Order: sequence, then structure tokens, then C-alpha cells
Amino acid sequence: MLSCKQVATIASDYLDKSTPLKWQIRLHLLMCANCRRFVRHMKITRELSKQMVLNKTADDVDTIWNKVQQQIKQDSQSD
Ligand SMILES: [Zn+2]
Repeated sequence: MLSCKQVATIASDYLDKSTPLKWQIRLHLLMCANCRRFVRHMKITRELSKQMVLNKTADDVDTIWNKVQQQIKQDSQSD
């Protein structure tokens, strides 16, 4: 069983689907709400920044950060 710290360390590999520990992470996420939230927020952040790059608006860090925070706020309200 992975610890929360281990999950946090490899969460970005998990989102890249480049870790052999995928199933162990999924198992941990089933049982751990904290890590579930952490991975979800990391995913939102990554998706938004990817969109920003595609839209060539990545130069405005404040805009990106505001969107990330909005998204996370909405997300935690729906919890
Ligand atoms: Zn955890």
C-alpha cells in the first residue's frame, strides 16, 4: 500500500500514464479522499495550462492562476 507522500510524489507520472504503479495509486485513491482531491486538482491545473499553451495565452501567469483557483473552488463546492 502506497503512502500519501508516495502518491503525491508520483501523481504527475500517474496523470501521464507513465507509471507501473498505476493500480496501486488507484487503490490508494479509492480509500483516501485527500489524495483523490490532490490528484484531481493536479489534473485540473495541468489541463488548464495545456489549454493555455494551445491558445497561446500562456504568457499571462495571473490569468492562468485565477482560472485554476476558480476551477478548484467550483470543484470543492461540488464535493
Ligand atoms: Zn492518501
